[in-house]
Amino acid sequence: MKERHHRLGSMLEAVLGSLFRKPATIRYPFEKFVMPKDFRGQPKFHSEKCTGCRLCIRDCPAQAITITKIGEKKFEASIDLGRCVYCAQCAETCPRKVIDISTDFELAQLERGKLKVVFHAEAASGSCPEESTGD
Ligand code: SF4
Ligand code: SF4
Repeated sequence: MKERHHRLGSMLEAVLGSLFRKPATIRYPFEKFVMPKDFRGQPKFHSEKCTGCRLCIRDCPAQAITITKIGEKKFEASIDLGRCVYCAQCAETCPRKVIDISTDFELAQLERGKLKVVFHAEAASGSCPEESTGD
């Protein structure tokens, strides 16, 4: 009997305590979730720095990267997010820091082809490279 009262007391204490604590969950997707800075989300490619050395392709364990030469010292990349395992090896390997790993994680698509993200080389220096999803 004494044991039962003790357990009820602890339960009541836990219930009352939780009324005044900040919730551990958020109302996602109505509330934006900010990932920790070291989270490995979508790899991004900055074409203006790429030399086309292809080391990232060699080291990608998922064969998710394609680098295409589209002009003199101009390379564009496609990264297949359907294959990518978000290991960040490409960012680690690239000697020019062309690829960085963002914290973007809302990457779902209804069509598989749209998981292929193409990063076009910039048309003129100073402008941001355009990013588009494949077909
Ligand atoms: S390793 Fe870096 S510089 Fe080399 S092809 Fe890949 S992104 Fe370009
Ligand atoms: S994060 Fe890993 S799997 Fe994804 S493209 Fe880079 S090396 Fe390949």
